[in-house]
Amino acid sequence: MEVRVAEKRGFCFGVEAAIELAEGALREHGPGNVISLGPVIHNRDVVSKLERAGLIQSGDLDRIKPGSTILIRSHGASPRLLEKAHQRNLKIIDATCILVKKAQEAVRTLHEEGYRVVVIGNVDHPEVQGILDYAPNVIVLDHVDEIDLRLPERARLGIVAQTTHSPEHVGEIIGEIAKRPFQEIKIVNTLCLEVVRRQQAAVALCAQVDVMFVLGGLHSANTQELARLCREQNVPTYHLENKSQFEASMVTGRKVAGVTAGASTPEWVLTEFVEHLRSIPE
Ligand code: SF4
Repeated sequence: MEVRVAEKRGFCFGVEAAIELAEGALREHGPGNVISLGPVIHNRDVVSKLERAGLIQSGDLDRIKPGSTILIRSHGASPRLLEKAHQRNLKIIDATCILVKKAQEAVRTLHEEGYRVVVIGNVDHPEVQGILDYAPNVIVLDHVDEIDLRLPERARLGIVAQTTHSPEHVGEIIGEIAKRPFQEIKIVNTLCLEVVRRQQAAVALCAQVDVMFVLGGLHSANTQELARLCREQNVPTYHLENKSQFEASMVTGRKVAGVTAGASTPEWVLTEFVEHLRSIPE
């Protein structure tokens, strides 16, 4: 069948840097001697490859032997966790993306400037969990319905957003906040342009195809957002991790398929998938 691929897709610079740091740490310290605090990125194919190369994964700092080397993933970590790691004499390799660091710093600065900090994001996402602790009493919300429930009346609000959110989603919430009589609203733009460009390319591709495939980790926020945007264009959309989840019925009666991939999806996953689709007779 005919297959078109999004012009902008796949690995972003933050993910590439995190993987390079993990591989470099394994070369320096040897297999079995580097511990990642959670998956380095939200992609099982990449994480399994790193595990096969000897990267250990742990979610519990207390169980890591003092003196070990730990890797902070691209989503970053809270100051509390970093402090605890120092106290336990752990060597830290910090793969936090520079854009996530910018969001963390923005939260700290807004608080120092006297704003009540608001994060527009998913409270369960590790990036948001990490940045929460950069100021006290940070409010997290992700839907316009939460504005009146969560935000203190007439406060001076300092707003940042989860880096992987779409400008449309964040803009909708900020637009609603602006309709209320808050004393002041200061917004720091923490959105990642790498993500925005992938979103724009996916939406553009939706206009040319009759089925869309979004490849990437099922827990990857930016991949989920890509799939959500494609569905909004009224194109049947499948969010798959890789070729193994493909079923022929997904393209029954379809002529042109579009394929894109989240910022944590390696190019080989996309290439394998595209080759498979192209081999299906029209
Ligand atoms: S998607 Fe953006 S914020 Fe996230 S790791 Fe990549 S470059 Fe950094």
